[in-house]
Amino acid sequence: MKTIGLIGGMSWESSAVYYDILNKKVKERLGGFSSCKCLMYSVDFAEIERLQHAGDWEELNRLMADAATRLYKGGAEIIVLCTNTMHLCSEAITQSVPIPFLHIAAAAAEAVQAKGLQKVGLLGTKFTMEKDFYKQVLKDKYGIETIIPTVAEREQVHRIIYEELVLGKIEDASRATYKKIINNLHQAGAEGIVLGCTEIPLLITQADVNIPIFDTTTIHAEQAVAWAIR
Ligand code: GLU
Repeated sequence: MKTIGLIGGMSWESSAVYYDILNKKVKERLGGFSSCKCLMYSVDFAEIERLQHAGDWEELNRLMADAATRLYKGGAEIIVLCTNTMHLCSEAITQSVPIPFLHIAAAAAEAVQAKGLQKVGLLGTKFTMEKDFYKQVLKDKYGIETIIPTVAEREQVHRIIYEELVLGKIEDASRATYKKIINNLHQAGAEGIVLGCTEIPLLITQADVNIPIFDTTTIHAEQAVAWAIR
């Protein structure tokens, strides 16, 4: 088994889910006492959140490259960044270490492709929904079209992530809001919904909606295990 290096803490609520899935999957695949060989470098999310909203991506690139380097020096053989949004810093990470980087949007795209879908709705932070870094991976590498919620809906999706989900607050009213937005994306032609924020699966599961959803936390963690024990 190879050693997985996780950049976590963004937020720790979802990093804990990664740790849980990694270990359960390894046990499922290898049985017995098997568990996942991994390292996690977990940041202080207060610092990250401040820099994100200040638009200081240069400093965020530096912090992510530094985290990847620490993991590499500690023996990690692959880097898994446990957040969709911070994949804005992918290039800084891949340039800082000579080991593979498992891109979360590529993992999501492969799952969408496996279901034979061509057009998906994307939910995530405003950074993920509005900037190109994520949608471009889906489009350029996999030919998958992405649609996003309206401006007002994007505000709601973003606010619920930062004011509730990353703080561990799971509210029924917010679940209802997300379900409505997912339904609108479905009406607008989405064949599936990418939950492109690692905390959204804490609020929304497949049982809540009538359209296929792609839980990026689970998909990403499962791909990391598949790589580690291949
Ligand atoms: N974990 C979230 C994501 O997957 C949002 C928190 C962050 O900004 O990293 O995008």
